[in-house]
Amino acid sequence: METSHLDKTNKAQSHALRRFFAKRVTNQVRLLLDVWRLTNQENWSQQRLEDLMSANEKLIRYAKHFEELSHLRLAEEIHQLLDAINESKTAPSSDRLFQLTDLIQTLSETALRKSDIDSGVTSVITPKKPIYIALNDENQGNKLARQLEFFGFRTEYCQTLEEFNDQMLKRHPAAIVMDVDLDNELHLGITVIQQVQNRLGDTIPTIFFAEDEGDIFTRLKACRAGGINFHSGTLDLGRIVEEVESATHNAPASPLRILVIEDSKSQAFAFQTILNNAGMITLIITDPMLVLDSLETFQPEIIIMDMYMPRCSGMEVANVIRQQEKYVSIPIIYLSAEEDVEKQLLAMSHGGDEFLHKPIKASHLISTLRTKGERARALISLMVKDSLTGLLNHTRVLQALEKEVTRAKKNKTPLCFAMLDIDHFKNINDLYGHPVGDRVIKSLAMFLKQCLRKSDAIGRYGGEEFAIVLSNTDIVDAVRICDSIRDRFAQFRHPVENSEFQVTFSCGVVQMTDQNSDKLTIIADEALYDAKHNGRNQICSPAASPGQDIKNH
Ligand code: GH3
Ligand code: MG
Ligand code: MG
Ligand code: MG
Repeated sequence: METSHLDKTNKAQSHALRRFFAKRVTNQVRLLLDVWRLTNQENWSQQRLEDLMSANEKLIRYAKHFEELSHLRLAEEIHQLLDAINESKTAPSSDRLFQLTDLIQTLSETALRKSDIDSGVTSVITPKKPIYIALNDENQGNKLARQLEFFGFRTEYCQTLEEFNDQMLKRHPAAIVMDVDLDNELHLGITVIQQVQNRLGDTIPTIFFAEDEGDIFTRLKACRAGGINFHSGTLDLGRIVEEVESATHNAPASPLRILVIEDSKSQAFAFQTILNNAGMITLIITDPMLVLDSLETFQPEIIIMDMYMPRCSGMEVANVIRQQEKYVSIPIIYLSAEEDVEKQLLAMSHGGDEFLHKPIKASHLISTLRTKGERARALISLMVKDSLTGLLNHTRVLQALEKEVTRAKKNKTPLCFAMLDIDHFKNINDLYGHPVGDRVIKSLAMFLKQCLRKSDAIGRYGGEEFAIVLSNTDIVDAVRICDSIRDRFAQFRHPVENSEFQVTFSCGVVQMTDQNSDKLTIIADEALYDAKHNGRNQICSPAASPGQDIKNH
């Protein structure tokens, strides 16, 4: 008896210790991701490489020490690559950059779901940078803090400049909500932020708040201090949470993928060096006849094209590319020594987006590519994402499901699909108005993003319906995860004017056996119907034997 009790205590203690130390590993992953992000914003340099190497070496040490094997394996692969890049004494080749991006992406996705952490299923905890809230009104400040914490942010409330400065010394936050007149002193908050930004040479996303509207001078000053928005009057908690979420939503930046079509090998090679130096992934083809294959396999985000090549001209290649709907929006940049403006214009009318002159300054080329790349990514995001919530739209989430079904069948891994529908949503619209209804939809979307892994595809399926593809997850876990989200969302108090209200949702979950994606959506929908029928605010899934549902209340 005695020993078994001791055993238990020991086990519990060692479990708790492991959990505690595992934090260091995840923390180090975050630091590595931070360095990686910088690498993609600037040109590749020896300094950055060294920063990456040292962050990664630390990760290896921690992962070894705390026996986080999946992180260890990834970090060791990253180490080998970085070593090879270091030895080559040049910017990484496209191949290596590509592999590196892939590994780092995987590393960032290994962070587990928040619900796993809460239920103590795993030992991984993801410490996030906090949000600092410096508002004169303590009541408002605390209210905002609670709201942000609900969505998984860590917060620190500071009532005075002194408290704010103390916090800044301890750690830099992910974002700041700042009173324009901190300490009730005119514009003190703006001045403080201005100083912070000057000192860091970098901007921390800041949202300003003022009790009154704020004249043009105040607002201008706030803009110049790098404020992302200016709120006044009563704090609109929902909007501030959204702004904080979008300002801190930092997926690891991935390098731009550039396809260069250029018949001159020496010129092509020169471009490649320039682009690799800027941290971009390139694929060079000197034979334009290979263009279709390389589009398919390389999936470039931008195409740089020579105007004159043997066998066909750049314009002709552009025409061929544009014939296919899926390639209609890839920017095509012509690079040529052609001086004749008429010919340039003609080239542009054949699906070109920009005309650059050879020879071109490396910095000019890079900045053009960065701008075009950013725009192209924004455009794609408009096409695949739902505008209200930023989740995948109906079509895209179904595509994601189809893709995951194929993958799960191939790899023989479990896959679940869930459909959610907000309960009695019509009443919310009727009682509080459509804009408040929209805010509820957005808050559920944000909540799902916070609770699920990056690798889970989440989509807005319809009005107040959502769909989630849970890869590598079996039905027991899927039900547990959805139910924990259900439970916590139901507790959330949505603010309106002078009161608050609560909202629930129902959910149907299904695990794939051998069905195709169409069939899965039908089964999930039926399970959702059961959940509604059985009284809402619950998860239902079709059980192995018909007629029996796994229900969670
Ligand atoms: P149930 O519990 O059975 O799901 O009841 P419900 O009221 O949620 O379901 P119903 O399908 O009757 O109503 C859904 C409502 O959602 C109707 C529609 O006006 C509203 N809605 C759909 N899309 C949006 C949107 O984007 N914004 C807002 N505010 N309302 C929306
Ligand atoms: Mg040529
Ligand atoms: Mg509905
Ligand atoms: Mg509904």
